[in-house]
Amino acid sequence: MLSILRSIIHAVNAAEGLQQTFDVIVSEISRAIKTDICSVYLRNKDDNSHFLVANFGFNPTKTIKTIVPAGKGIISLISQKEEPLKFAEGSSHQAFFEIPNSGEDQAHAFLGVPIIHRRECLGVLVVQRKSQEIFSEQDEAFLVTLSAQLAGIIANAELRNLIESKNRPKISTQFKASSSTSGIGIGKGWVVSVGTSLSSLPKRLTKHPELEIKQLRKAMSRSRKDIRDLASTLSKSLAKNELALFAAYEQLLSHNSLGKKIERLIKAEKFTAATALRKVIDENVKRFTAMDDPYLRERATDILDLGRRVLSHLQQKNLALKNFPKRTILISDQVTSAMIAEVPPKQLVGIISLKGSSSSHAAILARSLGIPALMGLRDCPIEVLESKSLIVDGYKSFLFVKPARALLGQYKQLQVDEQKMLEDLHHTSIKTTTTLDGVNIPLMINCGLQADLENELEATVDGVGLFRTEYPFMQSERFPSEEEQRKLYRGILESFQGKPVVIRSLDIGGDKSLPYFPIEEENPFLGWRGIRITLDHPEIFHTQIRAMMMANVGLGNLHISLPMISTLSEIDKSLQQIEQIYSEIKVQHNYSDDEFIYPKIGIVIEVPSAVYQIRAIARRADFLTIGSNDLTQYMFAVDRNNTRVSYLYKTLHPAMLLAILEIADAGNAEKIPVHICGEIAGDPMATIVLLALGVTTLSMNIHSIPKVRRVIQKFKMSDASHILAKTLSYETSFEIRQYLTKVLQDRGLADLVDPGHH
Ligand code: PEP
Ligand code: MG
Repeated sequence: MLSILRSIIHAVNAAEGLQQTFDVIVSEISRAIKTDICSVYLRNKDDNSHFLVANFGFNPTKTIKTIVPAGKGIISLISQKEEPLKFAEGSSHQAFFEIPNSGEDQAHAFLGVPIIHRRECLGVLVVQRKSQEIFSEQDEAFLVTLSAQLAGIIANAELRNLIESKNRPKISTQFKASSSTSGIGIGKGWVVSVGTSLSSLPKRLTKHPELEIKQLRKAMSRSRKDIRDLASTLSKSLAKNELALFAAYEQLLSHNSLGKKIERLIKAEKFTAATALRKVIDENVKRFTAMDDPYLRERATDILDLGRRVLSHLQQKNLALKNFPKRTILISDQVTSAMIAEVPPKQLVGIISLKGSSSSHAAILARSLGIPALMGLRDCPIEVLESKSLIVDGYKSFLFVKPARALLGQYKQLQVDEQKMLEDLHHTSIKTTTTLDGVNIPLMINCGLQADLENELEATVDGVGLFRTEYPFMQSERFPSEEEQRKLYRGILESFQGKPVVIRSLDIGGDKSLPYFPIEEENPFLGWRGIRITLDHPEIFHTQIRAMMMANVGLGNLHISLPMISTLSEIDKSLQQIEQIYSEIKVQHNYSDDEFIYPKIGIVIEVPSAVYQIRAIARRADFLTIGSNDLTQYMFAVDRNNTRVSYLYKTLHPAMLLAILEIADAGNAEKIPVHICGEIAGDPMATIVLLALGVTTLSMNIHSIPKVRRVIQKFKMSDASHILAKTLSYETSFEIRQYLTKVLQDRGLADLVDPGHH
């Protein structure tokens, strides 16, 4: 049963276009459960009528455009009740609605099941028999199972159909994201397919077919080698006839077989190697799936596997040719920071990630680059967004596909207004940050990429509160050398001379991985991450710390922060190594105390265990820096990348505020500064509360600086404790947000309420 199910799903997946999808469904089902008639009806969402989209067994000329009116027929009944119905004699049912001249009058036994996707009935799947032999329990269970699996494919095919249609639509297709970072992006889709799923590959054209053929040949030859290696490894354990199969695969991957067909398509249609590969593999899969012989039918799976193998070689970095659109909207199942770092910054105007939330690292990087991003767009068939005209509305979390002319015009105007507003904000804001009663609040920036630093506001901030070193590591093809790192860090320390610059030691793991240092884990956010990796790899840690210290020679503004600290011993071990590296360099270069200043060492507080040992941590550190992004994730046990639970991820929540209070109290008691470098620091709604909690420095992405400044300039520090007391009197983050929205409104700051923050 399972293999029949799989082969039907296979065949349906390989179908091209909406109609073919339905045709394959009815023909495959008729064959699988030996029925005389099989039909698919889709529900018209506007009037609840159902229309026949595909049929096997009816008189085809008489059934074109068949519509079952709303409330009529067994079809409507199934759709309304959302449950299967079966009868030995369908026509004797009081609701029966006969389709005239279709041949249905000869049918008796009837079984219909609803097609339900995300709680919505898309239509009905019907099988009928010319005998009165009632469909069995197994048939019913089979059809229900199949329908549940087909529902997603049908919903997806419908959306693709809408998006792929040649005509410019009157109404733009739109999708709602579960969260976003603010801004408007208008551009063309660029889909990065993850892994080796052929079906998620976008259709992409090339200007350099000869280069694509070269890449294809390399990938095919590497795949043939894989097969040969596999055969030789298995040669002792497999029978001769099974081994012969490997020879057949190798033959299929030769130039004279699949290779020739793929190359022909590249030349004729100007497809990229990956697109042509997908087409040829799909055709072959379809051919094999349609065969009656079960053995040959199963070979479809092998062909698919060969296709995936070639694709995986094609996708290796050095083989992929990239030609990003001038205004790129980067799209992927799960956009990663590495993907973002790969697009030339000037060409990147928007980001769309099916999975993830606004606290994913990709979203944080997007925010720090000032690029609107949509996170968590379930049901969006991303592969068809390739090269499509798109609008990303990061304010309202909407994606518009192939926007109608009028809508595009409106958004272009909005973009102009937005630009003007941001410029005004930059120019009119005073360049220091003082409260109404004269208290100066240091604001620092978070950065990681050079592009972050090309902003005139940089000169007006009080330093760098978080330099995420992972990003430059991601842009490299191997671990950067000590000298490469030294130059990078020196550049930052010099541009902020006289002001503190906090460089965080490498914080990979979780959702940040390096292409040359892959980490495969079941539960990466609870696994090998941050300091845990660097303590296990002293060669990486020492090189980085040496590079930072060498960069600091003669400057003295280096601060180092250590991420993911969960125990005191991690701090002690790190400090011991840092001290040793300092002494070694000092002796080696004979530096004086004045020119070689010992860096200030801070601990990132982002794991709940650290909150409960905060006094002991504060005694060991020169400063504390609250990583509220991870602290929220670990406090609420909610994966910051998981769209499904993103509604639980709340930074302005009583539990979080009490934790911050605890940390700030400890820092103040030990007389060390307490920074906050998570995204909450850039949320204008949180500003006054954080200061009242005792946080001494706020560090945020550069685009938030003018907004947070505006807030600070409108309050007295002496008002802050009253606002905090009121905030802490609420028990839910909803009430807190509601109250703080009002606080901002009362000071004329309603425009700073940002829905992108939690
Ligand atoms: C944090 O966790 O709040 C933080 C600043 O670090 P990151 O977002 O890079 O994990
Ligand atoms: Mg963190």
